Amino acid sequence: MILEAANPTTQADLEREFNPWLAAEARFNEAAARLGLDDGMRKVLRTPGMEITVNIPVQLDDGRLEVFTGYRVQHSLARGPAKGGIRFAPDVTLDEVRALASWMTWKCAVVNIPFGGGKGGVICDPMVLSQNELERITRRYTAELIDVIGPERDVPAPDINTNEQTMAWIMDTYSMHKRTTVTAVVTGKPLNLGGSRGRPEATGRGCLFVTLQALRKFHMEPAQTRVVVQGFGNVGGKASILMQKTGMKIIAVIEWDGAIYNPHGIDVAALEQHRKSTGSITGFPGSEPIDRQEALYLDCDVLLPAAKENVIHSGNAHKVKAKILCEGANGPTTAAADRILEERGVFVMPDILANAGGVTVSYFEWVQDRQGYFWNEQLVNGRLEEIMVNSFKDVVKYAEQHGVNNRTAAYMLALDRVAFAIKLRGIYA
Ligand code: GLU
Repeated sequence: MILEAANPTTQADLEREFNPWLAAEARFNEAAARLGLDDGMRKVLRTPGMEITVNIPVQLDDGRLEVFTGYRVQHSLARGPAKGGIRFAPDVTLDEVRALASWMTWKCAVVNIPFGGGKGGVICDPMVLSQNELERITRRYTAELIDVIGPERDVPAPDINTNEQTMAWIMDTYSMHKRTTVTAVVTGKPLNLGGSRGRPEATGRGCLFVTLQALRKFHMEPAQTRVVVQGFGNVGGKASILMQKTGMKIIAVIEWDGAIYNPHGIDVAALEQHRKSTGSITGFPGSEPIDRQEALYLDCDVLLPAAKENVIHSGNAHKVKAKILCEGANGPTTAAADRILEERGVFVMPDILANAGGVTVSYFEWVQDRQGYFWNEQLVNGRLEEIMVNSFKDVVKYAEQHGVNNRTAAYMLALDRVAFAIKLRGIYA
């Protein structure tokens, strides 16, 4: 990544800034200090309960054998089974999975659902792997983790480059080992295999709900709201289509292979069709191409980073003109950028609040699987709205009461809830 540094920084500084585990620690430390947590509790809260590395042999389609490395980190089980996605990407690291696992603990606590936090990842490049190869990787990874995951232990879900099909393979592999169908071992499954209505759009819908709350807070009308979205996938794509339905204008969409701009608004529902037929968002009729970085700095009301970590950093945070930042991705803002955004008065809806809609409907899916009774979409969306709106209000109120920014408030709320659970349970010796 090329950085346009605001202040000259050394490579080592940048590496530290971009290390997601250090980013998670920086936020953790600030919240823990403000809560006055003692050193012992800080250690317990910060340290992941279990970290597993698996090296999985897989036969490729051409007959060659390859070994892929995968991780599963259970950060905390204090409030319930570990919960969190599995990502497939060439740049997965244990530090990243660790950070993401801890973010899941805080996220589940912010929205007050009875889960701890976990995350998994496999170092592989899905772009160059066939469906059959991905299936073999997924099944072998699942088999290696058979005693670690489970409806009462650790419940994976989709994340970057994994989807409903991946979850179906995990569910099937786990069920084959257990000699009985166990749908509640994963969430984000296909609808007719124990999935929940509303799950595919849930993260995007959650982003919409918190954005609507922020607009209300600032007396802004959806019809006058201009949105820039980065990532047109499961989160950004779904969120922007839902936002457009409320009258918001999506003025720019940024993807890995290009970005498009139209100050009068891009018809994102039509853009989805365009991408389906051409394979790219670029060249969408009525839009003009724009530099992928410059698009992040457009004058807009809402910036929705919904792709990867470290998009807004100390080198570019001063260029962000958005009034509201809705973090659809996990960790899109570095800890150093937090300060700059705060000075600039950007209203930040942190990832552990803004993108919690996905895990919230995952919780609904897990409940439905365990009951064997499935809800209609209205019920799912209504309950999601209630949780997202209440969580938004909790965080904003907490921030105002304690004179801290929204991110610190969300962390404080979460740490306090997890620490409370640990104290109540006591330490088993
Ligand atoms: N991967 C999503 C997240 O980061 C969903 C996790 C889940 O549903 O368990 O929140």
